[in-house]
Amino acid sequence: MSRIVVIGAGVGGLAAAARLAAAGHRVTVHERAATVGGKLGCYERDGFRFDTGPSLLTLPQVFADLGLDLAPVPLDPVVRHHFPDGSVLDSSSDPEVFRLRIEAAFGAAAGADWARFWARAERIWRASWRSVLQREVTPAALAALSWRVGDLAAIAPGRSLRSLGRRYLRDPRLRMLLDRYATYTGADPRRAPAALAAIPYAELAFGGWYLDGGLGVLATALLERCRSLGVEVVLSSPVDRIRATAGRATGVRLCSGAEVPADVVVANVDALSVYRDLLPEPARLGGLAARSLAGFVLLLGVRGRTPQLAHHTVFFPRDYDAEFDAVFGSPGTGVRARPPSDPAVFVTRAEDPAVRPDGTEAWFVLVNAPRHGTDLGAVDWRRPGLADAYGRHILDVLAARGLDVRDRLLFAETRTPADLADATAAPGGAIYGTAGGLTRPANRGPLDGLFLVGGSTHPGGGLPMVTLSAKIVADGIGPA
Ligand SMILES: Cc1cc2nc3c(=O)[nH]c(=O)nc-3n(C[C@H](O)[C@H](O)[C@H](O)COP(=O)(O)OP(=O)(O)OC[C@H]3O[C@@H](n4cnc5c(N)ncnc54)[C@H](O)[C@@H]3O)c2cc1C
Repeated sequence: MSRIVVIGAGVGGLAAAARLAAAGHRVTVHERAATVGGKLGCYERDGFRFDTGPSLLTLPQVFADLGLDLAPVPLDPVVRHHFPDGSVLDSSSDPEVFRLRIEAAFGAAAGADWARFWARAERIWRASWRSVLQREVTPAALAALSWRVGDLAAIAPGRSLRSLGRRYLRDPRLRMLLDRYATYTGADPRRAPAALAAIPYAELAFGGWYLDGGLGVLATALLERCRSLGVEVVLSSPVDRIRATAGRATGVRLCSGAEVPADVVVANVDALSVYRDLLPEPARLGGLAARSLAGFVLLLGVRGRTPQLAHHTVFFPRDYDAEFDAVFGSPGTGVRARPPSDPAVFVTRAEDPAVRPDGTEAWFVLVNAPRHGTDLGAVDWRRPGLADAYGRHILDVLAARGLDVRDRLLFAETRTPADLADATAAPGGAIYGTAGGLTRPANRGPLDGLFLVGGSTHPGGGLPMVTLSAKIVADGIGPA
């Protein structure tokens, strides 16, 4: 049996702790916040209950062997898409139903294009699942992948998601729909790898899901599972340093000054912070220049009912590229990032009486936003008045797209990237750590006995990927 310290009680940290405890180790989790869940946050006000982070659960099979008591509810449509020309398309987790909906909305040629794209996306998904997502990325694993010529051809490492869309899809609305999936990894579709076509495949082939009471119940279920396995979870207990002797992790030092010895340390902290702030000697972590985008969130208590909304509804802008130009800026040419003036707006409204008082609705409204900071690729979200003004602007944008909720508001609150950075210590409030490349920081840290888990490491962000990273780490540590 090893003594294992996990730093951080996000989904990755808790899932790793549960797996390691089930494998017979003695596990303690130290979390800086007063609650668990990290980016999977919840907020309650006046009888409303909001998820402040994830709103869509995909790949529920990834959570199946964690021993959680979850009953995911399938969503149909998974997402309702409103396009600038007024057309509407509902996605479906039945590929034939979705193809028929595309045909009905955009014509037979668009349906046939999607079917051809879908076959390619399936090849990409299978190759990624087999060769990348379930295992550590090591030089040997990458070499093995290069021998699987079919997998490599499907993944097409040099191609962008945008160019894959251009190749298969002639309808600009389908191209827009595909582009949006780059943002699931925090990336710009013009630079994100074509391999991200695995994301719509996974979302639509295995479905989009909701958890009654809100997705936050996943964090509670993980915490209960950890405690039932004997994991000690210590809240309000920030870690200040990872301790090491002769190149091997030996424990952690808490901000309180207390030393906690360990045989193995698992960091659920953003990889950038691990390398820069927590190692005994700061180390450079290559390839971290491109940080993921962040999100600007409105939490709305809304009077009355809104039948035109699905569980998830996205309202696309006329010029999607202008949004990416604004969110990422162009620091190389001196163009500063800025809050996009006409962004895609994503509205989540659950038909769940547990999350709102009778006769009302709880809306979670999300738009892509530059991360928080003062460099050219960021925005200072703490600038007085900015959050409120931008929140009002987003309500105006929604009204201009046909959904005017301004006279039905009971309250409106904002959550900026700076707020997310405060709540979860995500650098700049970036949602996914590094933006969307094919490889991310490895799950093994630069010390023996140090492992990295969570959305800023391999295989990436989002609840299922983070949970896979916990399995990779637990497998790497092995049984007691
Ligand atoms: C607005 C938003 C919308 C999203 N939508 C979706 C979605 O629909 N579907 C989906 O699958 N994913 C979504 N995501 C992404 C998903 O939430 C994340 O990928 C995932 O929750 C990250 O988990 P993690 O394990 O990396 O840990 P994190 O959630 O990043 O947690 C890390 C934990 O470590 C703690 N910590 C940090 N430093 C220290 C320290 N020094 N000492 C102790 N503790 C420390 C933090 O407080 C935090 O609790 C969304 C995220 C956001 C913000």
